[in-house]
Amino acid sequence: MEQTDIKSLNLKELTGVVSELGEKPFRAKQIYEWLHQKQVTDYEEMTNISKKLKEELREKYPLTVLKQVTVQVSKIDGTRKYLFALADGNVIESVLMRYKHGNSVCISSQVGCRMGCRFCASTLDGKVRDLLPSEMLEQIYRIGADIGERISNVVVMGTGEPLDNYDNLLKFIELLTDENGLNISQRNLTVSTCGIVPRMRELAEKKLQITLALSLHASSQEKRLALMPVANKYELSEVIDACRYYFEKTGRRVTFEYSLVAGVNDTDTDAAELQALVRGMNCHINLIPVNPIKERDFVQPSRDRVLDFKNKLEKNGINVTIRREMGRDIDGACGQLRKRYIER
Ligand code: SAH
Repeated sequence: MEQTDIKSLNLKELTGVVSELGEKPFRAKQIYEWLHQKQVTDYEEMTNISKKLKEELREKYPLTVLKQVTVQVSKIDGTRKYLFALADGNVIESVLMRYKHGNSVCISSQVGCRMGCRFCASTLDGKVRDLLPSEMLEQIYRIGADIGERISNVVVMGTGEPLDNYDNLLKFIELLTDENGLNISQRNLTVSTCGIVPRMRELAEKKLQITLALSLHASSQEKRLALMPVANKYELSEVIDACRYYFEKTGRRVTFEYSLVAGVNDTDTDAAELQALVRGMNCHINLIPVNPIKERDFVQPSRDRVLDFKNKLEKNGINVTIRREMGRDIDGACGQLRKRYIER
């Protein structure tokens, strides 16, 4: 029998399902609220839905619910790193970061990743599969339930390349920001990409109010290519043009992520080139001292070097922050926890 992932349907699609089962349209809204506002994990909990309808739903529309495998809590900053199991036995990781301005969740968009960035642990074993919209939402729902607090910000910056799972990402955004669901504002959502140019442009044309973050990591095509194979396909200049286009279409300032690696992209020349590259753009640069992984010998620059790099950019009027490294003591780097779990 064919089964449909009910938690990946929008209200209109769900209304279609419900009327096919001979029920009134208002039932769809009730079910939708159970799924996306109250975030129940079993049909049993839907108290205003008839037993008959629940049974029919259970048969054809299994509920996607993630199972928490482990959670590691940072003693330094309270960051919580979760490992969740999917229905097919794959595992993914998600992170809760607690800030003064609210709770932020970093979610995975794929099981593994095929982009091959040299410093990243998530891509070492390639991509297994894309995540469904429901599986992206569930990471947020389960973390919210675990801590019993509202999640106000979401960043799609965990394992996977969100623009390599484009249709599911768009559906996820629609459901996450729906007023009948968790109702997270588009402005509180950030999507990070390694630079899939055609998709960046398509996304710009949607004119959403989400923040686009570009993983830049180098200020010349040659250096970027040495760190990120995706640069073979999309040249640095094309990627920067796509960022300008995103701002033009949406009015949203683009964030550049720049992981600093000692001796690789942290010299004064790099800072000068970077400054020239983004000159005149309405942007923000996030410097991230690289998180070393054991499979590669990338090293973090000294604190002084990082500050110096930041100052050089700031002197040229560029908006820069050094990313606080959350959860250093709990396999903070992208993909480390999942990889260790699988290896065990
Ligand atoms: N595929 C997307 C989102 C996932 S990676 C992207 O490339 O943006 C999220 C961010 O973490 C990216 O900027 C990525 O380059 C960075 N990152 C991955 N591994 C890292 C590491 N070991 N140290 C520092 N930053 C890392």
